[in-house]
Amino acid sequence: MKRFAGETPIGRKRRARKMARLLADTHPDAHCELDFTTPLELAVATILSAQTTDVRVNQVTPRLFAKFRTAADYAAADRAEMEELLRPTGFFRAKTDSLIKLGQTLLAEYDGRLPQKLDQLVKLPGIGRKTANVILGNAFDVPGITVDTHFRRLTNRFGWVQEDDPVKIEFLVADLIEKRDWTMLSHRVIFHGRRVCHARKPACGACTLAATCPSYGTGPTEAAPAAKLLKGPRARDLAAAAGVDPDLVPAAAALAPEEP
Ligand code: SF4
Repeated sequence: MKRFAGETPIGRKRRARKMARLLADTHPDAHCELDFTTPLELAVATILSAQTTDVRVNQVTPRLFAKFRTAADYAAADRAEMEELLRPTGFFRAKTDSLIKLGQTLLAEYDGRLPQKLDQLVKLPGIGRKTANVILGNAFDVPGITVDTHFRRLTNRFGWVQEDDPVKIEFLVADLIEKRDWTMLSHRVIFHGRRVCHARKPACGACTLAATCPSYGTGPTEAAPAAKLLKGPRARDLAAAAGVDPDLVPAAAALAPEEP
């Protein structure tokens, strides 16, 4: 990280907050991409999202949620029927197991409702710290930092952390960014990871964070090849925001599958 070598802790915090503001401007459409209407539905969708895409989960959940509405429904589920519904999401036997146990535990310990505390959520079947933070932030409006594969990769590239452990990353970022921004920051970083700062070839030459990012140059820095790497329905807007001619973005970018 030659570019910001010698940066002081306060300098890093200032730069991180500036990058967070740039991310907010870059991704005004950032949101939780899982479809849900209740905290229980969000918990179920998040459990199903392991090892698959949010798009795939959203294809499966309408039928699942129509059939299973309460914790009691999950607790009493017919295993074979649920496995069949969950099959497209992969690992459907383990996921069925988690959902049935989740329903049983919620019934036995919480009167069928999801608790609203991190230390209670993480003890529930199928729910780890990442899932618990998704639920807190998006269903209960309690600020939470969601460290998924994108968040881990990008916060390291941003020079906010030099760390692989998700829990340590969560605490380090919590120290850099104001608490009220945690949930939306998580969505924006994940959007940036899916649409701009890809794992293999990040679009550095078409990235709004270029001037503030120590990893600028990890991907192509010229406008034309970088613009080709942008993905998602706002790919042209992303190029324009970075000062790149939107006509350099291929029409197919809007339809290109984003990284899971
Ligand atoms: S400059 Fe490159 S490495 Fe840094 S955030 Fe942008 S795309 Fe990612």
